[in-house]
Amino acid sequence: MAATVSMDEARQALGTYFGYSAFRPGQERLVAAILAGRDALGVMPTGAGKSICYQIPALTLPGLTLVVSPLVSLMGDQVRALKAAGARPSYLNSTLTPAQQNTVLKRAREGWYQIMYVAPERLADERFCAFAREVAGPDGIGIPLVAVDEAHCVSQWGQDFRPSYLEIARFIGELPVRPVVAAFTATATERVRADIIQMLGLRRPETVVTGFDRTNLYFGVEEMGDKAKAVWIRNYARAHADESGIIYCSTRKAVDELAFNLGRELAPAGIRVGRYHAGMSAGERLENQAAFIDDLMPVIVATNAFGMGIDKPNVRYVIHHNVPESIEAYYQEAGRAGRDGDPAECHLLWNGNDFRLRRYLIDRTDDESELDDEARERARQNRYRLLSAMEGYCETTGCLRAYILRYFGDEGALGVSEGTARPDACSPDSARTGCGNCSNCTTAYEVEDVTETAREAVRFVQACGGRFGRALVADALHGANTERIRQYRLDDLPGYGALHEEPVARIKDVIGQLIGRGYLTQSQGQFPVVSLGPRAVEVLGEDGGAAFSLTVKRRVAARRAPARARKAVDILRSEAAEDARPRVGDDAELFERLREVRRELAIERAWAPYMIASDKALRGMCRRRPATRAEPLEVPGIGEKKVDDFGDAFLAEIARFEDAYSAEGPARGARV
Ligand code: ADP
Ligand code: ZN
Repeated sequence: MAATVSMDEARQALGTYFGYSAFRPGQERLVAAILAGRDALGVMPTGAGKSICYQIPALTLPGLTLVVSPLVSLMGDQVRALKAAGARPSYLNSTLTPAQQNTVLKRAREGWYQIMYVAPERLADERFCAFAREVAGPDGIGIPLVAVDEAHCVSQWGQDFRPSYLEIARFIGELPVRPVVAAFTATATERVRADIIQMLGLRRPETVVTGFDRTNLYFGVEEMGDKAKAVWIRNYARAHADESGIIYCSTRKAVDELAFNLGRELAPAGIRVGRYHAGMSAGERLENQAAFIDDLMPVIVATNAFGMGIDKPNVRYVIHHNVPESIEAYYQEAGRAGRDGDPAECHLLWNGNDFRLRRYLIDRTDDESELDDEARERARQNRYRLLSAMEGYCETTGCLRAYILRYFGDEGALGVSEGTARPDACSPDSARTGCGNCSNCTTAYEVEDVTETAREAVRFVQACGGRFGRALVADALHGANTERIRQYRLDDLPGYGALHEEPVARIKDVIGQLIGRGYLTQSQGQFPVVSLGPRAVEVLGEDGGAAFSLTVKRRVAARRAPARARKAVDILRSEAAEDARPRVGDDAELFERLREVRRELAIERAWAPYMIASDKALRGMCRRRPATRAEPLEVPGIGEKKVDDFGDAFLAEIARFEDAYSAEGPARGARV
């Protein structure tokens, strides 16, 4: 198909519908490719702005764009948000009655809609296929684009393989005119990427892999015991009472327990806590999800069943109560924080039990029964590989952000951080310099020589024949007198108690370092044992390992307080400080009043507040104080349709605020 829409028109649509003045670099390339009739593959993390990449072509190209999306909840939200922006969207899924579906199809044929969201299963429905063939045929309005969201679901190498995604290529192949096909995903390794291209039949797609750096997110890793985790989370939630957060646990049982306890402890502070996992009724899940999105229930404790397809921009923190199965999974879940670009925090709390549980789950996995033994073993190894990268993340003393970016192969060359890099932004060489916004970069380490401890540990592992786990080896070296030590007669071995002056935790630490550097190895499985690694000879060699030395970095103290997620009020204050324009009254006070207006508008329409206006847009209004309808357009995130619908309500509130303030006294020019 010849290009019928220019990038200028696309940019204009971006302003009109969404109120944004420019595409992010990755978006620009993908939209340009699609408008020029080329297939596209966008690999960007959650929050990088994938939906714009197909929504803008959908809203500008003639005909009906189909969006294949796996989650029904996502469709409802996207359609509501698009409608609010003044577009003509629709969706077709099982939540509609047959009569409603008929109406949607009829209107679609008549050209009512610019965009239609469908579940992949729908593509196997003959009635729908007939509809699509008709629309794409010579007498139809045309299907310029098929966009595939969460495209990694087509790959058996990914974590969320969905057989129904295999229908997509066939469906497209049967259309009388082949549309442009664009695929989007937040997580894809090289192999999954190749799979997406092949299984969806993409033709020489414009591929953009970018934006894995989320500069507004703070990353923290803390090792602590199970009880300490619960206390830490409670204190955190209390200290962030007026903010919204997600707490991920690895099992339903953990969700139920934590949600119950947190709920009881936070109730006096007026904080409602919800829970979400696949074991609950659909009704209760929906209810909790809606209450969370609408800011009525700020904290939700959930398994990873929660969040895919939830587009809540103002999640201020994501805490992992347990270790997820991979860096991909972690980054996807943590990435649900701060989608609005404002500062947000991601904390991972972990201890050895997490990894034991994960290994147990890997060994027990039997959902690959259709695979032969060899393939199953390969899949198992794959899972162990993913988990060990996660272990590396927990144990590294280097920059956490740099670790993640290296993992995804994003060198930051095409960062999508808006505008120019911020001073705290993570540059490609952050591995050396650090990003300044993660727990490792804000913690000072001291270097300690642990050569002797390490030597004893390696010798002892040799003496006990590689049959025991890290904890037991550490206990024996420390000289503990436990039943298990007596049972295995470890107290008879040379080296027992050789490190009685060292705390057990330190010995365990050193063993961990020895494993990480290949002097020792740790077996896989639920009860890993420690044995000699390939480099053990360097310690045990004939010269007694004279050349061997080992140093470790230890955390000493916080170098400075971590960059905290700032509250809206603090952001307003610092923004105001840079802005010399005189203003009437306190921006923060006005912000609260505009929030109230937004809440009322949201309730009237049964929308989520952010669909009316984002926090960022409200802050923009507080600073710019628009007095006429033309002015709110200058505020990022406010499109024409929003001005038409809600502009007056906000303008009136701003005027009321300023009048009341001026009447009170000579406060003109007061600054926050
Ligand atoms: P994804 O689908 O990749 O997770 P979204 O499409 O939901 O991300 O976009 C994330 C956030 O970024 C949304 O709040 C969206 O409105 C905003 N956004 C997207 N594109 C732009 C842009 N060009 N300029 C400013 N904000 C944008
Ligand atoms: Zn860092």
